[in-house]
Amino acid sequence: MTKTYCSLPFSHLYITTDGSVQPCCRFRFTNEEGIDTEWSKSEAPKVAEFKTLDNVLKDNPRHKIIQDKMLAGEKVEGCRSCYIEEEKTGSSMRTSENEQWGDFNRDTISTKSIEITFGNYCNLACRICCSELSTSWLEDEKKLVKDYPFLPVSKRKNADKDWKTEDFSTVKQIKITGGEPLLHPDFTKFLDMLISTDRTDDINLMIYTNSSTIPKSHLIERLSKFKNVKLYLSIDGFGKVQEYIRHKSNWDITEKTYEAWLNAELEYPNIVVCFSPTISLFNIMYVEELIDWWIETRMRIHGEVKPHAVTYNIMNNPRLMSIHDFHKSKERADELEEYKNSNDFIPNIEDLINVVIENLRNVDDSSIDNSVRKEFVQYTKDLDMLRKQDVKHSLPKLYELYEDLFTKYEGKLDKVLS
Ligand code: SF4
Ligand code: SF4
Repeated sequence: MTKTYCSLPFSHLYITTDGSVQPCCRFRFTNEEGIDTEWSKSEAPKVAEFKTLDNVLKDNPRHKIIQDKMLAGEKVEGCRSCYIEEEKTGSSMRTSENEQWGDFNRDTISTKSIEITFGNYCNLACRICCSELSTSWLEDEKKLVKDYPFLPVSKRKNADKDWKTEDFSTVKQIKITGGEPLLHPDFTKFLDMLISTDRTDDINLMIYTNSSTIPKSHLIERLSKFKNVKLYLSIDGFGKVQEYIRHKSNWDITEKTYEAWLNAELEYPNIVVCFSPTISLFNIMYVEELIDWWIETRMRIHGEVKPHAVTYNIMNNPRLMSIHDFHKSKERADELEEYKNSNDFIPNIEDLINVVIENLRNVDDSSIDNSVRKEFVQYTKDLDMLRKQDVKHSLPKLYELYEDLFTKYEGKLDKVLS
């Protein structure tokens, strides 16, 4: 195994909302100067252009360029996120994937894992998201894009692939993200196709869902056939915080959905319910009550908190929603430290709190950009107007911290729009 080798370009495919393929979810298409790396986004082929998934890995010329560089020990420019992380921490997605999947070469290529989105259909319009991943964002974006050019204004996209059992003869792990997969018409067909391979006892599923759909028995029954199923529930706040951030969600349904999955976990040992919040400026003041609710609900249904996976997304882009310009970061880090030390959490929850604390401690007060905070206030006010929401009512602790800015600045949109 060379110093730059990664098993993913030999054994994994990331299939995006429009069906185009990438080496993995971390691969970067442009370098720091905005110039294309080994794989330009516009040249990413569609999965449907190839006979099987193995054919993508074997026949796609972009994959071959990356594979050849890795086998020769050369650095791959699009993989620099992993190299940077390794320099800082000694490990990365590359090193952990190599541990899991091992050594391949051009003769032993075979698809072991895929990450797939069926398309960008989603019933929610979370503040931390956009139309690239959610069709429910489109109408708001059309009104906002002139003043907030980072918004993509993407139309409905579909991965459009006629999945066949032969695609999955060696696949062991499938990660399904969104849009909202559980509401996509292709999702059940996809599960049925996997079940017809007669290989489900060798396939692990990881499903990311927005917890807005109480699972029906026919779905749970299908999932019970797989080796392991991890259900990652994307929930960012308790009660009105969740409804504000994850717009169009209903807290009563969110809770009932979590409870239904916990009951499925009790009934089927292969199903594990996992926690997957996104931490942004919107919920940084509400982390404790979210974690308390998550744990208390588990205790109520299961009588204990068994170990389960926790993944998190610390929002970086757009910067206006990230915690990197949060002026109370050190005080907030101290509060979370105290919260962590006064409770006995399972290790994965403790890791989540530690990562949030670390991100807060890394905020460099001298580089806080006041124009970004102003933009956050304007964006929040504009979305509040379009969505008939009110940050003061839903996120009072955050409002209080920025009251001077909320009082001083209006949104950029013309109020007539409302
Ligand atoms: S080295 Fe990192 S970015 Fe490159 S393919 Fe592997 S995991 Fe993805
Ligand atoms: S549920 Fe997921 S895909 Fe849908 S809007 Fe929220 S973050 Fe985006």
